[in-house]
Amino acid sequence: MSNPTKYIFVTGGVTSSLGKGIIAASLARILQARGYSVTIQKLDPYINVDPGTLNPYEHGECYVTTDGAETDLDLGHYERFLGVETSQANNVTTGRIYLSVIEKERRGEFLGKTIQVIPHITNEIKQRVQILGNTGKYDIIITEIGGTVGDIESYPYVEAVRQLKWNLGPKNAIVIHLGLVPYLAAAGELKTKPVQHSVKSLMSSGVQPDILVCRTEHHLPEDIKDKLALFCNVRKEAVIESMDAETIYDVPMLMLEQNLDKVVLEDLGLPCPEHLELTKWKEFLQRYKNPKGEVTIALVGKYVSLHDAYKSIVESFIHAGAACEVKVNVRWVYSGDVKNENVAELLKGVDGVLVAPGFGERGIEGKIKAARYARENNIPFLGICLGMQMAVVEYARNILGYTDAHSKEIDPNTTHPVIDLMESQKTVTAKGGTMRLGAWQCSVDKDSKAYQIYGQESIMERHRHRYELSSQYIDELEAAGMKCTGRNADTGLVDIVEVPSHPWYMAVQFHPEYRSKVETPHPLFVGFIDAAKKYSQNKK
Ligand code: GLN
Repeated sequence: MSNPTKYIFVTGGVTSSLGKGIIAASLARILQARGYSVTIQKLDPYINVDPGTLNPYEHGECYVTTDGAETDLDLGHYERFLGVETSQANNVTTGRIYLSVIEKERRGEFLGKTIQVIPHITNEIKQRVQILGNTGKYDIIITEIGGTVGDIESYPYVEAVRQLKWNLGPKNAIVIHLGLVPYLAAAGELKTKPVQHSVKSLMSSGVQPDILVCRTEHHLPEDIKDKLALFCNVRKEAVIESMDAETIYDVPMLMLEQNLDKVVLEDLGLPCPEHLELTKWKEFLQRYKNPKGEVTIALVGKYVSLHDAYKSIVESFIHAGAACEVKVNVRWVYSGDVKNENVAELLKGVDGVLVAPGFGERGIEGKIKAARYARENNIPFLGICLGMQMAVVEYARNILGYTDAHSKEIDPNTTHPVIDLMESQKTVTAKGGTMRLGAWQCSVDKDSKAYQIYGQESIMERHRHRYELSSQYIDELEAAGMKCTGRNADTGLVDIVEVPSHPWYMAVQFHPEYRSKVETPHPLFVGFIDAAKKYSQNKK
């Protein structure tokens, strides 16, 4: 629609956790609704090369793209809001920038020059920002700068933004700055000073924001907007309030009400078409906010103390719940707590059990017990990645009678390694980007629940694991009633198992949660929540 590609930079000030990712995704969604093709990129100021090696307790979930990049969980929001796939280029960290510059230096590409933050690091950042624009696929690129302005780590990014704004020229690049307007209850007042100071800090790096988005717990009165506009050099229409919302999926609507799309398009010199395509989004919100019933799903995992560690799973429940017109309550069950004596108590009253992905030994027996309880009590069951592996271990132990069956990841000495290291992984020692990653094609048996769910014989799903169901046990498992109904089209690796004698028992080696979107909920999650709904109705 437009030429050349326009750039929007989103920075944050005052504090972290202001919801920059949601604002970026919401803005992208409403620009998309106006007919523009948009993508979002996140630049993260930490030194890890990617978040794949980060502890989920600290950083939340690692999101995986179709092309196999291990990325920040904000990319999950981008895909869920926009329905457009992201890639390795959409998430860049300081570690990756430095690695790439240092590799170039080692190859002699700088011809003896002294390598410095400015210009070498900033040039690499600028290049990474423009890679997406250069594809020619997008009218607008939104680049979210992680961290908070004023932090040492953020400085090279802010400098790269300053240069890009200058290089690209007026109307081709704008900056949206997010800040917090706190409410002091004792004084009964909203305070603008923190935002003023963070804008000052941005300006001391030579960057003037064009738009301010102010996170607040109370509406911003006109006089506060006037003050912010005057002291931060932005026009009044460009002072946007971002109130705490009932759901993140309301934020695009809240931004529309305040004309953020119009202000942005004006600043970029682009037309704002009358037509706004948000029909499916609004239908989703309508169903989500008016459920006709509710179900409770136990999410059994070891990182449950940080809910962000299972972000995509929880969002998938929301999408599927809206599709099935039920509210999905999540019961967080720490797998380390699940014992034979208390499993019935911990899972009492749930309408479905999801055993989550994960790594390592802690809490593993609890996952196995939860899978057994769901299987024996005919409770809808979904196992994902490690969750599938433990479902297979459970079946091998309790149905095949191999009492020491295990995954070699957990017990290298087991005499029945039903889950074993993939052949391709046996020589891998390096961490980070070395698992079976990204989307792989899976062939689904026509005679299976998986086929009923997907309605397709060939599906593409995203993976992130090193271990697999050992082919040596397939025949025995199948003869005992656990069917392998989905396999990698090329290698034959088992991607889906199910137990047809159970009302709804599915376990998958891939991560369906990465593909669920607001406007296209994932069929496996819809099937699971629908089964939970039926289970709950039958209980009554
Ligand atoms: N730890 C298991 C593996 O590497 C499962 C990984 C996961 O659940 N993402 O195979």
